[in-house]
Amino acid sequence: MNKVGLIGYPVEHSVSPAMHNAAFAHLGMVDWHYDLLPTPPAELPQRIQALKSDGYVGANVTVPHKQAVISLLDRVGLAARGVNAVNTIVRNDAEQLEGHNTDTPGFILDLEAHSVTVAGKHALVLGAGGSAHAVVLGLANRGASVTIINRTEHNAWQLRENVRKGVSYQFNVFVQPQKSLQKVLDETDIIVNCTPLGMWPNVDASPLPENAQLKPESIVYDLVYRPAKTRLLEQAQQAGAQAIGGIGMLIFQGAAAFELWTGQTAPVEVMRTAALNAMEQPE
Ligand code: NAP
Repeated sequence: MNKVGLIGYPVEHSVSPAMHNAAFAHLGMVDWHYDLLPTPPAELPQRIQALKSDGYVGANVTVPHKQAVISLLDRVGLAARGVNAVNTIVRNDAEQLEGHNTDTPGFILDLEAHSVTVAGKHALVLGAGGSAHAVVLGLANRGASVTIINRTEHNAWQLRENVRKGVSYQFNVFVQPQKSLQKVLDETDIIVNCTPLGMWPNVDASPLPENAQLKPESIVYDLVYRPAKTRLLEQAQQAGAQAIGGIGMLIFQGAAAFELWTGQTAPVEVMRTAALNAMEQPE
């Protein structure tokens, strides 16, 4: 049996098992299975050490372990280093555990699926955690000028330093204080929410104040995918802007992980249907 699993805490509400097991079934991969590996922080080292002996060929890593896991792996890919977070582990042919980050390709592939072009655009990233690193790296490497605004400004500056070595384009990444939000919005084409604000059950929250003015020609991307239409996306639609939720990124990052583990092309639409069905299940 080829096992893969999700290491995080908590993990019960994840749609990843449904998404990956549907993909295995669709491709007739009967000896593959994805399961949940709930892991409190104190147990992370033992969990990583036991992956090989427990027969896992790979894993996904989620909150709160994406940074802490880095020092426990045998190798970490360049992109994951730039993002300073690992969301996918692959056990390679040399029996080493390799760390990867598929959030960057997941985000960029979903922008492309929505026909959003990035080069030459001004982007605003709200937040400075693991997902913000992945998003800033993706946008900057495709030629966007990126401004980061975060509750804790110091963390935004830290993000800027962390991603610098991973950006092969001209480095146009800036930090602004929260008080400059409206001024930045006036000059922004693409706004990306990388905070958990608006996520179920706090569905009335938004990273933008109610009186924020959005340009109708702007694009608002919310990494939050539960609920599908967040308060931020409602604000975007009310302003006439294009509103994109985070489910597509979730599916594409999962598809990228699937391909790393199996070497097979991921059945993206099968994974999308399974993820959407799993999300409709009662909590
Ligand atoms: P994270 O590493 O914990 O970072 C969270 C960021 O949000 C931090 O910068 C934090 O600011 C800020 N923040 C948290 N609570 C806030 C509040 N009440 N007010 C203002 N700012 C706040 O989290 P993450 O892993 O980046 O994930 C962020 C969100 O993206 C989550 O909802 C996650 O589910 C979602 N996500 C979606 C996908 C997808 O595939 N669609 C992938 C990854 C993540 P400070 O620096 O001040 O603490």
